[in-house]
Amino acid sequence: MAILVLAEHNNAALAAATLNTVAAAQAIGGDIHLLVAGSGCAAVAEAAAQVAGVGKVLVADQAAYANQLPENLAPLIAQLAQEPGNGYRHVLAAATTTGKNVLPRVAALLDVDQISEIVKVIDADTFQRPIYAGNAIATVQSSAAIKVITVRGTGFDAVAAEGGSAAIESIASITDAGISAFVGEELAKSERPELTAAKIIVSGGRGMQNGDNFALLYGVADKLGAAVGASRAAVDAGFVPNDMQVGQTGKIVAPQLYVAVGISGAIQHLAGMKDSKVIVAINKDEEAPIFQVADYGLVADLFEAVPELSSLLG
Ligand SMILES: Cc1cc2nc3c(=O)[nH]c(=O)nc-3n(C[C@H](O)[C@H](O)[C@H](O)COP(=O)(O)OP(=O)(O)OC[C@H]3O[C@@H](n4cnc5c(N)ncnc54)[C@H](O)[C@@H]3O)c2cc1C
Repeated sequence: MAILVLAEHNNAALAAATLNTVAAAQAIGGDIHLLVAGSGCAAVAEAAAQVAGVGKVLVADQAAYANQLPENLAPLIAQLAQEPGNGYRHVLAAATTTGKNVLPRVAALLDVDQISEIVKVIDADTFQRPIYAGNAIATVQSSAAIKVITVRGTGFDAVAAEGGSAAIESIASITDAGISAFVGEELAKSERPELTAAKIIVSGGRGMQNGDNFALLYGVADKLGAAVGASRAAVDAGFVPNDMQVGQTGKIVAPQLYVAVGISGAIQHLAGMKDSKVIVAINKDEEAPIFQVADYGLVADLFEAVPELSSLLG
């Protein structure tokens, strides 16, 4: 039994989310093959071969895959999954923008149900996944011949990026559907860690009052080497860009430390951060629901507490 895992990358480096997806594949059990589809992606293939637990790296290095267009990638994955000699029983990808874009199409091409955002593997057919914005966990069993699964990274501890020595095999086939073209992308640039990969996150909510006041949080974050997140209220009010949103309709995070500042703790926000290892809340309202999930709570005015915290951090 083999498992095909879609490697996530930007043609230069392997994304950390891939390591969590490989961990989920290990929990299922079987030979793990990483598919690196891209253009000029040899360095990614080399990195993929080092990942602990990976048995083989398949490299499809073609212009058609340069920007991970799902219209081109999905047929390639479906083709690989169906080749009888490959013996794939599972196809996995991270539940990221790319994974969520590509895998439903693979499931449709294979005519199977997709199993989305698993957080736990019970056995090779049975998985757990959150439903109702994370308020309940469903245990789902699939009888599909090939199971197409997206993996929520926060549910699985990443495997080591080094220590493996997988064979690298080139795939010549090109599946260029010719129905979409990559036009461009605007990537947010930040010196701070990426939200979903950060070990520490400092997030601000409506209580911050405006975008300028987020400078208080940037100061603390830089001292802690943290990423900065936000509630949807802060995003909707235009304080910060929407790529900083944490929650049900934002990013799902589970850092070692999550500091919520001026955030009430609505369930849609909790859905994105309640699996954080340690939660600290600063809120002036002692009745705020965030205190129900906080390990440490400070009832205080953030405009006093945050500068004080910042000066204590040196
Ligand atoms: C379908 C749907 C999806 C959603 N998805 C998301 C999502 O992904 N992420 C998300 O965050 N929300 C989401 N929401 C919105 C969510 O319901 C809340 O409205 C939002 O999380 C509230 O943000 P907030 O806590 O910043 O604001 P508020 O609820 O207004 O809370 C502000 C808090 O700041 C405190 N405060 C104010 N001033 C100070 C001060 N000086 N010092 C200390 N504390 C202070 C207040 O006591 C209050 O608790 C979603 C809603 C819906 C319906």
